[in-house]
Amino acid sequence: MSATDLNPLSIVLVLILGLCFGSFLNVVIVRVPVMLMQRWRSEARAALELDDDTVAPMTLSRPRSHCPRCETTIAWHDNLPLIGWLKRRGRCASCAGRISVQYPLIELTGAVLALAIVALHGITFSALWLYAACMTLLALAIIDLRTQLLPDALTLPLLWAGLAYQLLFSPLMLPSAVIGAMLGYGVLWGFATLFRLISGRDGMGYGDFKLFAALGAWLGWQALPLVMAIAAGAGALCGLALQTLVPRLRGQPLPFGPWLAIAGWLALLAGEGLMAGYLSLIG
Ligand SMILES: [Zn+2]
Repeated sequence: MSATDLNPLSIVLVLILGLCFGSFLNVVIVRVPVMLMQRWRSEARAALELDDDTVAPMTLSRPRSHCPRCETTIAWHDNLPLIGWLKRRGRCASCAGRISVQYPLIELTGAVLALAIVALHGITFSALWLYAACMTLLALAIIDLRTQLLPDALTLPLLWAGLAYQLLFSPLMLPSAVIGAMLGYGVLWGFATLFRLISGRDGMGYGDFKLFAALGAWLGWQALPLVMAIAAGAGALCGLALQTLVPRLRGQPLPFGPWLAIAGWLALLAGEGLMAGYLSLIG
């Protein structure tokens, strides 16, 4: 089915599916860092030969969705994407504590993104892969903002999925994607090592290298300078603006992952048009 075949029914279905994927993404964003911390803690305790004190480790499905304040399980009708939050006006049904606006915003983004990708690429298998990549980038950006972590559990599958995407849908791109993955990791690792030698400080984390490698796999090595320019430019401008406006942020390192993710989104979505203009510029 191509983009021109979109009828009102399929638009509504795509939006509903997008809301549901957005709802699942909220679970990933909130739980994956907690699951990581629990695992590190239990590994550290094992190394110190202490008993594992983790009670009921968290997974993506357990425990069921609950209010972070009073821990009451949220009823399914209050947990419906977007509708649940609007119905309760962003408050818990039991204790009336605030439920973060992040939940409906991510759900809405999931829906709008689904519609945008279907409008650009039609309802196709490759569109689904692109959507999964964009959603993973969104999760990584928010997790990095909240916790300064870019979990391997997301960056590495994104990298493999990028290589598989090229193999399945544009095999001619595969060499460029493999080089992109290697260069993406290698160049950032090189910069970070140099920066550490000169300044004695860490500028970037290994998560940033893996994320850049994943973008190399999805976009090919030719796109990496463009992605880096957008990420560094936007990151520096917004970082400067934020640190001027919010004094408490001054001198604080700001995560780079979200800017890489945003630049990756742009390159994935604006895709061919942006790349064609850029490639004609560089030669
Ligand atoms: Zn509550």
